Amino acid sequence: MTQHKLLVVSVDAMHVDDIPFARTLPAFAQILERAAVAEIEGIYPSVTYPNHTAQTTGCPPARSGIFNNLQFQPGKGDRSEWFWDSRAIKVPTLFEAAKAAGLTVAAVQWPVTANEQNIDWLVPEIASPQVFEGLEDQYRQTTDEASLERYILPNLDRVVIREPKRNYFPFVNHVSEQILRNERPDVMFVHLVEVDSARHAGGSYGPHVEQALREVDVTLGSYLKALSDNGDLETTNIVLVSDHGHVDTEQHTNLNVIFAERGFLRLDTERKLADYDVFCLGAGLSGQLFLAEDLTAERRAEVEALLAEIESTPEYRIEKIWTSQETLRDYGLDGPFDYVVESEPGVIVGMLLDRRPVVRRGDDDFPAYLGNHGHAPRHGGQPVFIGTGPDFAPGADAGRRSMLDEAPTFAALLGLDLPAAEGVVLTELLATAAVPA
Ligand SMILES: [Zn+2]
Repeated sequence: MTQHKLLVVSVDAMHVDDIPFARTLPAFAQILERAAVAEIEGIYPSVTYPNHTAQTTGCPPARSGIFNNLQFQPGKGDRSEWFWDSRAIKVPTLFEAAKAAGLTVAAVQWPVTANEQNIDWLVPEIASPQVFEGLEDQYRQTTDEASLERYILPNLDRVVIREPKRNYFPFVNHVSEQILRNERPDVMFVHLVEVDSARHAGGSYGPHVEQALREVDVTLGSYLKALSDNGDLETTNIVLVSDHGHVDTEQHTNLNVIFAERGFLRLDTERKLADYDVFCLGAGLSGQLFLAEDLTAERRAEVEALLAEIESTPEYRIEKIWTSQETLRDYGLDGPFDYVVESEPGVIVGMLLDRRPVVRRGDDDFPAYLGNHGHAPRHGGQPVFIGTGPDFAPGADAGRRSMLDEAPTFAALLGLDLPAAEGVVLTELLATAAVPA
């Protein structure tokens, strides 16, 4: 089979039911016209980093090590670091396989890629600015000299800084197009966050989501033009993916506040965490519970009784508290935690300490965000897989498939082996010549 280029664009939080509107936009329409598609069952928790890691490894959190967006740093609250460093991933990635095969690799704003040695042109996503001394330092410490000098430093003024938030959209859109155009990498992964941002701010559906899709369409159009100008359009497989959907947020159940009130978590005089018997690491619409390592059997039994009580208290709206053995069996989700809290759809499993135990939509202290994710993958909007190009079968539909199938499919398109991946190649979507023997 002829080796074709691969461009993977993650449209963060794009839903399958966004496709009809996307068809009305020029670049999406061009990509969708002859596309092969699947609806994707995502990874639990349905947050960005475990899912993007699954997309490049074919492995669930129990094996990749990326079990949440946030690292477990009790006491840091909303200053906890994200899993920004690629060295946290415990299994081989597609980037590694591509580099070993001599392919040139680029990644822009792809999660968990900082310090990734197998990416030639690397602009990592850094969601933990507090770790670094400013914008320039965060890139100096996490990527190579060539990416820095040629693409990052000349464009840093495109990052819109409104403390404490940074908006990378104009920077990412520009830099990704420039790398695609100038470097013509064999493999490129880009992560675009406009749609996710819109859904967080304004809820799952509405004109704000359509506006975000229009903005993504402009960027996709710039990629199609760059490929076309270089004569690469006919020889590049383009895949649009997404990582999770959203659910409208109805309630926050702040478990650490409940643990503190009941004496299972202790605060210092500044109301900061002193120590805990049980601590909740939030993952949006689910949570992960860590028990202290030195718990006596008696205290552990008391924690378990409290969890059973929380599960059966209607106002908390907690559907089920799973053991990590159960989530490993049913979801491939495991990590250094003991339990996973699955709430009813739309209920945030909160970790902050300066809140009331239960805050409902409409309350004065309800946080501004209206949409969120982290829920079990069966709820809410479902992620997309849209492939077009020389190795895809136009019009093919693989039905509902696991996100773990994406990395093996990318590997097959590139003629690579990814033996650690658990998923299978989406052969139904591929033209016969691209199906591995
Ligand atoms: Zn996301």
